[in-house]
Amino acid sequence: MHVSTTKSLYARWRTLPVGKVKLTGGFWFEKQAINRRVSLRHGYRMLVQSGNLNNLRLAVGAGEGAYRGPVFMDSDVYKWLEAASLDLANDRDPELEALVDEVIALVAAAQQPDGYINSYYQVNKKPEDRWTNLDHDHELYCAGHLFEAAVAHHRATGKRELLDVACRFADCIDGIFGPGKRDGAPGHPEIELALVELYRESGEQRYLNLAIFFIDARGKGRMRGYGRWGAAYHQDHVPVREALEVVGHAVRQLYLTAGVADAYLETGEQALMDALLRLWHDATARKMHLTGGYGARHEGEAFGHAYELPSDECYCETCAAIAAMMWNWRMLLATGDPRYADTLERSLYNGFLSGVSLDGQRYFYVNPLQSRGGIARPEWYGCACCPPNVMRQIALVGNYMATTDETGIQVHQYASATIEAAVGDERVVLQMDTRYPWEGHVRVTVAETRSGEWTLAFRVPGWCNHAALWLNGDIIAGGASDGNYVTLTRAWQPGDVVELDLEMHPRLTAPNPRVDAIRGSLAIERGPLVYCLEEEDQEAGVDLLDVRLLPDAELEAEWRDDLLGGVVTVSAEGYVADVQDWETALYRPVPVLETIARPVKLLAVPYYAWANRTPGTMRVWIPQARP
Ligand code: ZN
Repeated sequence: MHVSTTKSLYARWRTLPVGKVKLTGGFWFEKQAINRRVSLRHGYRMLVQSGNLNNLRLAVGAGEGAYRGPVFMDSDVYKWLEAASLDLANDRDPELEALVDEVIALVAAAQQPDGYINSYYQVNKKPEDRWTNLDHDHELYCAGHLFEAAVAHHRATGKRELLDVACRFADCIDGIFGPGKRDGAPGHPEIELALVELYRESGEQRYLNLAIFFIDARGKGRMRGYGRWGAAYHQDHVPVREALEVVGHAVRQLYLTAGVADAYLETGEQALMDALLRLWHDATARKMHLTGGYGARHEGEAFGHAYELPSDECYCETCAAIAAMMWNWRMLLATGDPRYADTLERSLYNGFLSGVSLDGQRYFYVNPLQSRGGIARPEWYGCACCPPNVMRQIALVGNYMATTDETGIQVHQYASATIEAAVGDERVVLQMDTRYPWEGHVRVTVAETRSGEWTLAFRVPGWCNHAALWLNGDIIAGGASDGNYVTLTRAWQPGDVVELDLEMHPRLTAPNPRVDAIRGSLAIERGPLVYCLEEEDQEAGVDLLDVRLLPDAELEAEWRDDLLGGVVTVSAEGYVADVQDWETALYRPVPVLETIARPVKLLAVPYYAWANRTPGTMRVWIPQARP
């Protein structure tokens, strides 16, 4: 998950090492503290309870009973290891590090002499069965998560043990697959991006070559697929360079594109970038939910047709939002185009963050934009890909804040944090303070600087219509500059203060009229946050099926310390439609004129915070009243 583009030849921007962005307060600091104190501990307990660690013990020859869970149980262990390792870079908690060391020792013990590790195959199958079901058995997928965990652990702690385990397994796989060896590609992409990262960490060119081999091996129509999709379920229906649209299982598609973007960052192959641009356009202009969630259908956990974006029966797997962020981050690093940071931010604050409860110990796999009631987050899943994925994303969130290049530092996301970066190999330290995402004011103090001129760049998010910039109290730039970076170049002095003001008002958003499911509806947004109506916050007797909004509705934002851990709510003047005539009919001949029963004040809360109280009804999209 942590990307290092410090040596990537085709990166426009360089990432910061793990631990160099330390959150110091506010929104993400609090999320990270809950992740550390609650989620990571809870995750460890769940790995014990669900049998993941016992499966590895069985592979060692110890353990109790039989293998439990789906074939990819090891990947949950690796994702947890990666999350905990990344968090050790934020705060080296000795108790957590002891758990990490214990699990790493178990993984190392489970590794076979030839480097192979997969508890499912080691416990349930014979050695000759390995690699016989690449479509569905997730051996390469689990390997990929091991590699990511190993890279994170090495970067965060400097310890090599897990990295050595990972390299031995990568060597084992490299001995089997490749040109002149065995052909084939994993049914679930993941190893591609992980091998590129393992290459970046180890310097071993064979790992990059193997990643590209797996990318090139797709698209031969060999995979059996699932349901009506056939090979497209696995993105095996067309070679990556010829792909025109995102299809099939959404997480597989988005992990694949993230891996292809990694390959581009190292090789600069234009055909890969051309394919990525086509796929990105298809994903974001036709198949993305307002929340930055992806996947329209439960069947096949899949993308639907263009503009098939139902609010209630959509899938929007938490892992798909995470995969999309991983892809957008790589696209941003490759191109410097702020629309990727905008898209990442949309998923981060909405379709991703709804995946975890405010208390950090319950999780959503599916993230609908409308609930008819009765939906609550369980504490774990039989297929538990999402919870540890949430943990690693929250542990890493600081790394999305900033990058560097030869000329200076670019700030992409806003949070109170200390940012330590090298500009031209010389140390610069920034202290950023903000109440983002609740307020659009950001204050950056240059704490340490190098000599000579360098440039500070700030992203003006696409949602912001007016941004202003001050230097040491003097206004530098003002005016409309949405969806871009504003820059300041000078010989900075310690104590220099830059203030950025991103105008943040509640706003109404309309969907593309081709989206049948939500045509004629409006959504409330404010800053990076998508809002929703929850039954619990509405006036007595208001059924969310009957509420309406006018496009010129007055919207009012209010900070509520007492609600959902502290949120800005948005209230809107709305209406309740008169549906009395409809009590006995489902259909009626036209013309039908809708009348309003009464005006009502609607209270919206951030979508990410829904389903943390009584599981009532919820909706993001609100039908427009007919004036
Ligand atoms: Zn998942």
